[in-house]
Amino acid sequence: MTSTTDCIFCKIIRNEIPSTVVYEDDVVKAFLDISQATPGHTLVIPKQHVADIFEYDADLAAAVFSRIPKIAKAIKAIDPAIKGMNILNNNGEVAYQSVFHSHIHLIPRYSDTDDFK
Ligand code: 5GP
Ligand code: ZN
Repeated sequence: MTSTTDCIFCKIIRNEIPSTVVYEDDVVKAFLDISQATPGHTLVIPKQHVADIFEYDADLAAAVFSRIPKIAKAIKAIDPAIKGMNILNNNGEVAYQSVFHSHIHLIPRYSDTDDFK
């Protein structure tokens, strides 16, 4: 499995940096974002180190995204106040990517008046 020694998300996969784990299997790890856009904001990352969408092949993309509905449902089940969810993936500095180990944001939405834009 590809990983890097200095990537913070590879360190989270190896438990060298603590995280609050939401879900984990052989393909992905899901953990709470350290800076919660809304309560329950979760990042889903492939265990294979890929920097961004341009480094995925179709098999890895399919494997990672196949986990998303299960993780999204598990988050939603925790709190009946969750009414929806934004699913975001930033690729490149110009697209506001700040950690260069690809990750998918799952951002629960509680009402049309919560303040995340
Ligand atoms: P990006 O801007 O690259 O799409 O999102 C990176 C996300 O990673 C940010 O929302 C940021 O809060 C989160 N993040 C950065 N470092 C850590 C960390 O050490 N632990 C956790 N749990 N999240 C992190
Ligand atoms: Zn990495």
